Amino acid sequence: MIGNEYNAGMQYLSIKTLYLEVTHACNQRCRHCYLDAGMHHAVEEMSFAQIAGIIRAFHAQGGRYIIVTGGEPLVRGDIFDILDVMEGLRIPFCFASNSLALHGARLEKLAVYTCLDMYFTSILGRDAARHMHITGRDGYDRVLHALSFFEGKKVPVYVQVTLANAYIDDMEEIAETLLAFDNCTVKFTPIGTLGREDEENAELLIPQSAFPRFHEKIVALQARYPRWVEDGNILNFAQIAGLMDDYKDRELYALDYGFVAVRPNGDLSFSCNLGNPYVFGKAYEGLRIPIDGKLRDYIDALRYAEHAALEEAGRDIVELDVTVDRYIRAYHSKTELTIHKVLPADALAYTACHIACWQAAYKDIIPDDYLQNMPSELAQRAEHLIKNLGEQTDQFYYYVSLDRKMTGRLIFGKAHDADKPDAGEIGAIYLEETFWDRGYGRRMMDFAMDHLKSMGYREIIVWVLNENHRARRFYEKFHFVLDGAKQEIEIGKPMLMVRYVWELTQ
Ligand code: SF4
Repeated sequence: MIGNEYNAGMQYLSIKTLYLEVTHACNQRCRHCYLDAGMHHAVEEMSFAQIAGIIRAFHAQGGRYIIVTGGEPLVRGDIFDILDVMEGLRIPFCFASNSLALHGARLEKLAVYTCLDMYFTSILGRDAARHMHITGRDGYDRVLHALSFFEGKKVPVYVQVTLANAYIDDMEEIAETLLAFDNCTVKFTPIGTLGREDEENAELLIPQSAFPRFHEKIVALQARYPRWVEDGNILNFAQIAGLMDDYKDRELYALDYGFVAVRPNGDLSFSCNLGNPYVFGKAYEGLRIPIDGKLRDYIDALRYAEHAALEEAGRDIVELDVTVDRYIRAYHSKTELTIHKVLPADALAYTACHIACWQAAYKDIIPDDYLQNMPSELAQRAEHLIKNLGEQTDQFYYYVSLDRKMTGRLIFGKAHDADKPDAGEIGAIYLEETFWDRGYGRRMMDFAMDHLKSMGYREIIVWVLNENHRARRFYEKFHFVLDGAKQEIEIGKPMLMVRYVWELTQ
């Protein structure tokens, strides 16, 4: 997994787990396959030297686990040379194969690796005929043979059962067959999308209407085989909400569920928990992934997708892997954020936005009476703002517009603290509640910080209400640290403010 740790300078992710796709080629012809199945010798693929270089780079930056996958890794003549590199560096790995070419000497050879942590394979039906109907190859017995072999070697095996609609009623029988091997864990994955959307293959898709039945079967199997049947890819609302809760306070949302994949041509992708790879570039030169605007944007898009999917799903069962693309497209097409200078003519709208933002941000922090009374002061506050716009030449007032609606406010400029004569200050950064948690705050913050830095400030301060934990977490994400300064102010009651400072270190 990718952790929330960064190296010095906080500019790169440390990658813990790597999906290494060593080839596009495959000896099966699965009807649902995204690789279009078959042998792709024409497609440019990484050389052994390039793959070995990537494994070493991964190890050097603290990598801990590799999943070797394809296509079918065994079609590469140098696959065991690749595994030798991992073994030499003592990196535990999972080897993923459809088992069709894994027999005899190859099985023995694979089992010799002390770093082989798990064998991953797949089965697509309850018997050889059904498996072949989907895969186009007679590999069912090979899968069972591999299971039996690794059971003897005490190597865990993870079997993904990729399930076609017609086979839902076979789930119990499939589980019974596989779980007769005591080294085996099973995961049922519904065929929810197709590599090729043709009519003949459309019958494979498990429709959303069948998800509840699929889910019930998983739950029943989990009760029967505790620990040996994984959750399916389908999650219900409560499960998703639970997952979100787990990472809502994390620095980079959802990264714990992410992984890095190196595609056979060397493209490096990052994928979050929603299974949507984002291509960053070539991996030949190493595996450092900069935390740049693109990555942030990608994570924001995923956050938006997750929220939107949850909102739409209500309490129904949803299948996020299948639906998330739609939301991500919506995120990119819909949400145009623009930042504008506040003019006197904007004063009323800006003040109304200020009040809405405060009422959301300070609920349960500032006394209710104070917040409820704010709209009655709208005109007076707007007048005050116009005066400030004319007088405060070292302060910069901006508003944020989303979909052409004023939804947030931003103030920054010179700090006026006596002990910080050369510092800049972020005076306000607020968004209306509907737009929280979608990454807009980060974009506003980047805007303010970039401006302050371009004005030559090497130190930037921000005052925050002590009890405003949400805002404090936000500033901490930008590496602001408490410097111990405090002040008491009156906002409906005496309240404590604490000061955060950010310093340019290079
Ligand atoms: S085994 Fe995997 S890669 Fe090969 S054809 Fe089937 S789905 Fe595609």
